[in-house]
Amino acid sequence: MRKLVAAGNWKMNTTLDSAGALASDLAKKVQQESSVEVILCPPFPYLTTVKEKVSGSSIKIGGQNCYHETEGAFTGETSVGMLQDIGCDWVILGHSERRHVMGETDADINKKTVAALEKGLGVILCVGELLEERQANKTNEVLQTQMEGGLSGVSAEALKNVIIAYEPVWAIGTGVTASTEEAESAHDFLRKWLTSNYNADVAESTRILYGGSVKPDNAEELMSQPNVDGALVGGASLKADSFGGIIDAAV
Ligand code: PEP
Repeated sequence: MRKLVAAGNWKMNTTLDSAGALASDLAKKVQQESSVEVILCPPFPYLTTVKEKVSGSSIKIGGQNCYHETEGAFTGETSVGMLQDIGCDWVILGHSERRHVMGETDADINKKTVAALEKGLGVILCVGELLEERQANKTNEVLQTQMEGGLSGVSAEALKNVIIAYEPVWAIGTGVTASTEEAESAHDFLRKWLTSNYNADVAESTRILYGGSVKPDNAEELMSQPNVDGALVGGASLKADSFGGIIDAAV
């Protein structure tokens, strides 16, 4: 039985005050014992504040990115150890904005994934196709390339600390959500990929989230699909009532 996940990617949004207030509101909602794993990924400067505000709840925090080196002359970068120092359990890697705005490759994402897993930091690995790739019937090909690239060298044991997020790029921040059939078909492909490249146990236990314009009113239907184990949420995670509605849909 896979525990469902509601993860909020706040991207480059909020202020110190609004991040703290949002975290406090959500902490009131999510008790110590929760049937849903709630993960908040605020901007780096607010991680410590958010961590403080969620203490006493079961909410976990995560970074939106990290660098694969442990320390040194890498101006502007944040190491895995630094994220762990301030209480992160997770890091989002391979988000479409990192891939398509910042130009990260599968090889970059793989180095970060391996570095995070080696230190015991959980990875939310995002994969997903562009609109033109879907229109050219290349969705599965793209997913396969991104899974192979991102998870190269990752053992079945290390994969226990990985959540996959299927995020079709055309659905992120657009208000256009994948249909339940489109989401389920991609998730089914990803689970089968895990079976062939790892084994049936790994495939059965790995959580695969859907991301792309998830809102309270479409979350329940998406998460009712057999291979959809929760949501990675951008815009709708910035308001306590809408993210709260998505958490409720996962309960
Ligand atoms: C995201 O940024 O991961 C995301 C899914 O964004 P949104 O929910 O706004 O589409």
